[in-house]
Amino acid sequence: MDSQQFREFGKAAVDYIADYFDNIKDRPVLPSVKPGYLEDLLPDEAPEHGESWQDVMQDVDQIIMPGITHWHSPNFHAYYPTAHSFPAVVGEMMSAGFGCIGLSWVASPAYTELEVVMMNWLGKLLNLPEEFLNCSEGVGGGVIQGSASEVTFIALLAAKEKMVKDLLEANSPLTEGEIKAKLVAYSSDQSNSSVEKSGLLGSMPMSLLKADKDGKLRGDTLQKAFQEDKAKGLIPCYVVANLGTTPTCAFDDLTELGEVCNKENVWLHVDAAYAGTAFICPEYQHYMKGVELAESFNFNPHKWMLVNFDCSAMWVKNAKYLVEAFNVERIYLKDKHKGLAPEYRHWQISLGRRFRALKLWFVLRIYGVEGLRKHVRDQISLAKYFEEFVVKDERFELCTSSMGLVCFRLKGDDHLTEKLLHVVSERRNIFVIAGHFNGKECIRFAICSRLTQREDVEYAWKEFLAATEQIVSSKAK
Ligand code: PLP
Repeated sequence: MDSQQFREFGKAAVDYIADYFDNIKDRPVLPSVKPGYLEDLLPDEAPEHGESWQDVMQDVDQIIMPGITHWHSPNFHAYYPTAHSFPAVVGEMMSAGFGCIGLSWVASPAYTELEVVMMNWLGKLLNLPEEFLNCSEGVGGGVIQGSASEVTFIALLAAKEKMVKDLLEANSPLTEGEIKAKLVAYSSDQSNSSVEKSGLLGSMPMSLLKADKDGKLRGDTLQKAFQEDKAKGLIPCYVVANLGTTPTCAFDDLTELGEVCNKENVWLHVDAAYAGTAFICPEYQHYMKGVELAESFNFNPHKWMLVNFDCSAMWVKNAKYLVEAFNVERIYLKDKHKGLAPEYRHWQISLGRRFRALKLWFVLRIYGVEGLRKHVRDQISLAKYFEEFVVKDERFELCTSSMGLVCFRLKGDDHLTEKLLHVVSERRNIFVIAGHFNGKECIRFAICSRLTQREDVEYAWKEFLAATEQIVSSKAK
């Protein structure tokens, strides 16, 4: 393909995406294809001879689009949002267009330097303590990773190396292998599946401690778990606190957990994957109180901050712990500028790096802080609007409402809420998923798409009402 064909293909693709967004509301939010549908529509082998981009685009429309779930439909209310904006899409396109691999400063200086500046912009927006920023005097800094899962795992590995080093330096009678075998990690039973997975990947048992009735992990619960494990000869090493849990968007108290961790020299990591975006609004920054006691902090601009997947922001107070844990040098990686800029390959799992900072820069510049704060506030007020419908109808029970997530249920036995979810899912007009709150079944209703308006929230509520009527009338028969 030459550059002229690329111009035509690229422009046709941009038009296709723009049309898709203009009409996304008219599409059923969920596809109706069955597992294996695509296999029957594609040839068994790759084509021997190249085909035209027009044929490829036609197949995108006819066989790929029917199998797409419309995450950005205003009727998508499942999980948490995944971010999307046109500036970020263009950022992705340009990053692919440059096609570099930022494995060191010289491998593409703009990659590293824009990332450093973006992580400082973002850290300042969140009002993170100075010591987490690259622009501070200290050894802290920010980096963009691919996902919150990666960040939780990387922080666990760094915590492990730090604990081993600290104990050996304090003349522990144990060998490195013996110390590693005794390390334990902790989080709450409300934490994301990726937190438990980080323990599995990092060979460190992850204790999921019981959260309180509001979904928060309490300091005394953590302290007790430390004491019990220490009595068994184990070594507490790593704690993941949640700011915005996946089930109900609950917030742990960082001061309580941080004080316990600091007393015991245990690494505290903060997972604010979804809710962290709200901290760009000063009125939500109180949730971060105590963050100065943490060793690392993470949130996903790719969830709620209009930056397309993948873009997960991680800050550490002391980057030395990452670099020491992951530093492997080779002659072909040598760069005479060493020490003048972060060598981000030592802060992550892979060697190669994408230019993720570009799309973040585009979004921050084109929306501006004001535009991003408006996005967050509008989405929270839409959730409040939905909450009012729930509260006003006495057949329903509000379980929790936090940020852009409302959890609710039909009063009575769990099977009623299960039935409601089943009927709503069968109607296929909106997409929601099940949750649990204090041992009861509930429905999680999240404001996800940046296109969702008040009329879409009204539409969703009418869906719940229609489904409820259906359940009531089928019971009466
Ligand atoms: N942490 C929380 C609180 C989440 O809600 C999620 C995903 O929804 C994750 C972590 C995992 O995020 P990622 O897909 O970036 O690994």
